[in-house]
Amino acid sequence: MTAEQKTVLARFLDIAGAYLEDGYRRPGEEYGFTDDGGEAPESRCADPSSGNTLPPPGDTLEGIAADIRSCRSCSLGAVRTNAVPGEGAENPLVLVIGEGPGQEEDRTGRPFVGRAGQLLDKMLAAIGLRREENCFIANVVKCRPPENRDPQATEALCCKPFLRRQIACLRPRIIFCVGKVAANLLLENDGQTAIGSLRGRFFEYPAEKPPPAAAGTEDRISGSIPVLATYHPSALLRNEDLKRPAWEDLKLLRSKLEEIKGP
Ligand code: SF4
Repeated sequence: MTAEQKTVLARFLDIAGAYLEDGYRRPGEEYGFTDDGGEAPESRCADPSSGNTLPPPGDTLEGIAADIRSCRSCSLGAVRTNAVPGEGAENPLVLVIGEGPGQEEDRTGRPFVGRAGQLLDKMLAAIGLRREENCFIANVVKCRPPENRDPQATEALCCKPFLRRQIACLRPRIIFCVGKVAANLLLENDGQTAIGSLRGRFFEYPAEKPPPAAAGTEDRISGSIPVLATYHPSALLRNEDLKRPAWEDLKLLRSKLEEIKGP
């Protein structure tokens, strides 16, 4: 059992004990748990840079979602309520990638449905995008990190094969990363590069070819996919000053889409 799993269990037992005793919820205490010995969760993950993570033949969005829902490859799988594979159009113009599910997403199994999700929908609508029509919304990790912390690097790498399979099936025209976790993972940075220095310009994601089952999508695009990053909607809710640069990024995204779609 990992330290994180022990902490979640201990917190639950403390709250349940206090409630049964007198109904009073006492302030939480710090726990000093450590991981048990043995194989660490991340060591069971496929190396995302290896050939093992290439999309298998016949891969489909439904198949990926089923694999995600049955996955327990990292410690987040033990503490989730629902996995959140993602949702949206099957042939999207834009694939939006966030960090990971929050409380509401964990409860519903749907991505970006809380306050940040409502803001994301408004941001996309401002440039003519809707998740039901021309976007697909996904996250770096498909299970909720406890207490809404950022996904750890090992968790992000462990889950990355699912994202790569989704990208290969969806073949989006543009990938739009919201927040530094998604941007760093897609661009294979050290994970620590600030979003302020990644936003405002396009990068390239060297996409795999679509799997055979996605025949008919090959003519949509080939080779790399443009990647644009901006601030996470949660950051915009916390800091009004970030809304102006985020709007500049949305205008860049709109211009690129117009360029791709042509006259
Ligand atoms: S976060 Fe990803 S790798 Fe970890 S258990 Fe969930 S689906 Fe599996």
